[in-house]
Amino acid sequence: MLSKNLINLDELNKISDYQHFSDDLVDAILEEAGKIGSEVLDPCNLSGDHEGSKRLDSGEVRTPKGYKEAYESLRDGGWFGLEAKEQYGGQQIPVTLSAAVNEIWHSSNMSLALCHLLTQGLIYALQKSASDDQKNFYVPKLASGEWTGTMNLTEPQAGTDLSSIKTKAVKENGHYKISGQKIYITYGEHDLSENIIHLVLARTPDAPEGNKGISVFIVPKFIPNEDGSLGEKNDVSCLSIEKKLGVKGSPTAVLQFGDNGGAIGYLVGEENQGLNIMFEMMNHARFSVGVQGLAVSERAYQQSKMYAFDRVQGIPIDGNKGDPIIDHPDVLRLASTMKSEVEAMRALAIYGGFALDMTKSSQNEYWETKSSLMIPIIKGWLTERSLEITSNAIQIHGGMGFIEETGIAQHYRDARILPIYEGTTAIQANDLVFRKTLRDNGKAITELVEEINSEISEISNSGNEVLKNLCEKMTQSL
Ligand SMILES: Cc1cc2nc3c(=O)[nH]c(=O)nc-3n(C[C@H](O)[C@H](O)[C@H](O)COP(=O)(O)OP(=O)(O)OC[C@H]3O[C@@H](n4cnc5c(N)ncnc54)[C@H](O)[C@@H]3O)c2cc1C
Repeated sequence: MLSKNLINLDELNKISDYQHFSDDLVDAILEEAGKIGSEVLDPCNLSGDHEGSKRLDSGEVRTPKGYKEAYESLRDGGWFGLEAKEQYGGQQIPVTLSAAVNEIWHSSNMSLALCHLLTQGLIYALQKSASDDQKNFYVPKLASGEWTGTMNLTEPQAGTDLSSIKTKAVKENGHYKISGQKIYITYGEHDLSENIIHLVLARTPDAPEGNKGISVFIVPKFIPNEDGSLGEKNDVSCLSIEKKLGVKGSPTAVLQFGDNGGAIGYLVGEENQGLNIMFEMMNHARFSVGVQGLAVSERAYQQSKMYAFDRVQGIPIDGNKGDPIIDHPDVLRLASTMKSEVEAMRALAIYGGFALDMTKSSQNEYWETKSSLMIPIIKGWLTERSLEITSNAIQIHGGMGFIEETGIAQHYRDARILPIYEGTTAIQANDLVFRKTLRDNGKAITELVEEINSEISEISNSGNEVLKNLCEKMTQSL
């Protein structure tokens, strides 16, 4: 799967963090992740979608039947520490490999795997930007799965445009009192872990207007004691959870901070640096959402293929009575287009993960540029393609695709959020064109096209002409 033609795995071993990385480790982790996917996550996927998460009158949230047991299997297997550093109890595996694990899990149960995705993102952000004390205190609990993480950006008036965030943070006795409302918070409240660590964007009273005045805070659901045991409940409540088109098992919460004097929050980094820090987490999350696009497409393809080889209807041209629908050229066209696109998506995701890992290498400048160029492409393209691929999966199923019990409709509904959250496709396009292309006068994108061109000339087959023409067109438009 992690083809040596696509990336050079040996390069990862040269990075001090990944010296323990080996082909055997890849095989062992992927095999085990596959078992968890099919034996633990998948069994509560469709039922979880139909049941959904529910908020009780007490404000507590109950995830669907089977989620808690599945979560506990992930936690007990040490899977929450996949990317966390060894010093915090993690397994410190490269993103290249964790992306492959995430593909399997999001294929199996996207709603449940979202909890893991957000926690990985929080670990990533804290490891990069938090103080040593904060890292030592929070990361081990997140890496062990005892606590989970969330990302609190969105407010009713501040979606794409975070400059209009209103949540307040007032300094008091060495911490901050947070007040305001956040909406659409994935796993903002749930019953899977003993504590939830919210990473919250807010403004201090004298902060400058707009993006430059945003700070970021750790706001735990239960305020931990110094020894890590749970103390009092913080002033955060779940007002409601949303009824949604897809990812219904995953609770999407409206959170109210500070109705009773202010939720206690701890500043990460410096005041007014919040957006930069949150971007660390968002970049990781944007990459992971791209992987979700791949995952749901792979699942839709696998189910469609099985159905197309099983379902008999009509007599295919050049076929016989009783042949399955895969022998109809149009069904074959749909299925083979799905397959080839999924493979291209996977190649891009693995390469993107590798680029992120290589930012820790001695050529970090080159790979920083490359990975930041790739992220909007991966997030934008993989998620947009997943819409058509999951739609084609319904088409292959005919009427059965539209009926909920086959489960294929769930993938179509689940995929629909992917081009929206973590920055809509329009925002990925803005990022790619303005920040990643115009800002350096097209240097990074030109280098990428040149690399593609030089690879094309190394291999020769008829398909290369198409790619070559595309590269030429792209170079002309730069
Ligand atoms: C299921 C779900 C889970 C979510 N989870 C989280 C979470 O965990 N944490 C969190 O903080 N948020 C979360 N969100 C919020 C999500 O990130 C936002 O919905 C998303 O960023 C878009 O913001 P918006 O909904 O306000 O849309 P708007 O910003 O109102 O955008 C509406 C339309 O206008 C377009 N648009 C807006 N500005 C521009 C622009 N500058 N250029 C071009 N087009 C533009 C958009 O592309 C879009 O098509 C979640 C949302 C959902 C539905």
